[in-house]
Amino acid sequence: MTRQFDAIVIGTGQAGPFLAKSLAAAGMKVAIVERKLFGGTCVNTGCIPTKTMVASAYAAHLAHRAADFGVAIDGGVSVDMRRVKARKDAVSGASRTGVETWLKQMANCTVYEGHARFESPREVSVGDDRLTAERIFINVGGRATVPPMPGLDQVEYLTNSSMMDIDFLPRRLIIVGGSYIGLEFGQMFRRFGSQVSIIEMGPRLIAREDEDVSAAILEIVKAEDIDIRLNAKCIAFSRRGEEIVAQVDCGSGAPEVSGTHLLLAVGRRPNTDDLGLEKAGVAVDEWGYIAVDDQLRTNVPGIWALGDCNGKGAFTHTSYNDSEIVVANLLNNDPRRVSDRIPAYALYIDPPLGRAGMTEAEVRKSGRRALIGKRPMTRVGRAVEKGETQGFMKIVVDEQTREILGAAILGTGGDEAIHSILDVMYAKAPYTVIQRAMHIHPTVSELIPTMLGELEPLAN
Ligand SMILES: Cc1cc2nc3c(=O)[nH]c(=O)nc-3n(C[C@H](O)[C@H](O)[C@H](O)COP(=O)(O)OP(=O)(O)OC[C@H]3O[C@@H](n4cnc5c(N)ncnc54)[C@H](O)[C@@H]3O)c2cc1C
Repeated sequence: MTRQFDAIVIGTGQAGPFLAKSLAAAGMKVAIVERKLFGGTCVNTGCIPTKTMVASAYAAHLAHRAADFGVAIDGGVSVDMRRVKARKDAVSGASRTGVETWLKQMANCTVYEGHARFESPREVSVGDDRLTAERIFINVGGRATVPPMPGLDQVEYLTNSSMMDIDFLPRRLIIVGGSYIGLEFGQMFRRFGSQVSIIEMGPRLIAREDEDVSAAILEIVKAEDIDIRLNAKCIAFSRRGEEIVAQVDCGSGAPEVSGTHLLLAVGRRPNTDDLGLEKAGVAVDEWGYIAVDDQLRTNVPGIWALGDCNGKGAFTHTSYNDSEIVVANLLNNDPRRVSDRIPAYALYIDPPLGRAGMTEAEVRKSGRRALIGKRPMTRVGRAVEKGETQGFMKIVVDEQTREILGAAILGTGGDEAIHSILDVMYAKAPYTVIQRAMHIHPTVSELIPTMLGELEPLAN
């Protein structure tokens, strides 16, 4: 059966539902299609469940440290993984149900459950149904990359999705990938009680960050007895009895890491390979990301791509921001653009890393004259009071314009405190605005003005 709509939205991730709501509220007849779980990655296998589990891991960590705070826990601390999972399922499930119910009750919106594929630039099939519309919005997200590593077919492995089903403690967990996802799972499961090894091909963890950030994170995870193997160029797997063995060195008879479970956290790929894009003529890049312009239009008029599948961001907030940009352009005559936004994100190990704008390395590379300020968390009163003094904060400003170019806060509350810097960056105000602001005591943020009062030239 063919049905005609004003707009079709494919995927209910972080962009699709808000977009559907806005278009429907503007009087358009909207169809939204979901093939699996409402809410997509963030709600079901990404941010929400992992951060819920990070909270459980933090509770376990603090319980182990209770004596540091003068608190006695008699009888020892143990983690019940079934209850950890049940708590995670409850939080994630409430969010998923919320999205599903919202969409299904939405006026002017029809929900289709099934896999959507383009049949032409204006036509999408979902099972036996054919939907047509003058405007089609793609929000199909991505999934874990599983590279063709030698021996991977000999062993069982987990990804961020299958990790969500775990209700037991892996005795020895091997994680391949020392970036955001690998580090979050690694510290979390170490705190639950697993032995954890993280294998990273590169010479340092989380290589996109500055070297001092990588070094501090290495120190943080090593302090929790997480085994870190860097420069693992020739990763290969084999089975030895019940064990999974990962070769981590190129030499023969090489050093190896063994474990009971293996998690792959080596990157993401867009869900664009089974979408019939060729029938619509939509162009993708060599990695399968849909090519879009600054207002998220594809090369085919009437088709937009939002969220992780367009390669313009890999976060919930970038996907949601994509939907705001499209709505502003289509409905509000407001020419918002992707290039208006400032890169910002967090890494949710404990303590977290909050990031905004350029890294110090990027500023150096740009060749501009800049000033830098840095302060260890040991000199932040709030961190000392909480007994959480790992990490540091730093900020880089343009010497001429005095605008803030970038900042990193690796430390307790860093994911929140970074926002005062981010908002001043959006305001394009000079750094002196924060330097002269009276911040609340005792907070991590109160030391940002102090740090800005101690800026020094950034040596190139
Ligand atoms: C472990 C992990 C932790 C993360 N933590 C964070 C975090 O803390 N903060 C943060 O900002 N980001 C985090 N992310 C990233 C974040 O989850 C994504 O960037 C976010 O979900 C945006 O995704 P999206 O809107 O592009 O699509 P998604 O959320 O991936 O949703 C896409 C939807 O489209 C559906 N779909 C796909 N193909 C079709 C089709 N052909 N037909 C119908 N439906 C289809 C999918 O089933 C899915 O529901 C994390 C990711 C992972 C994996």
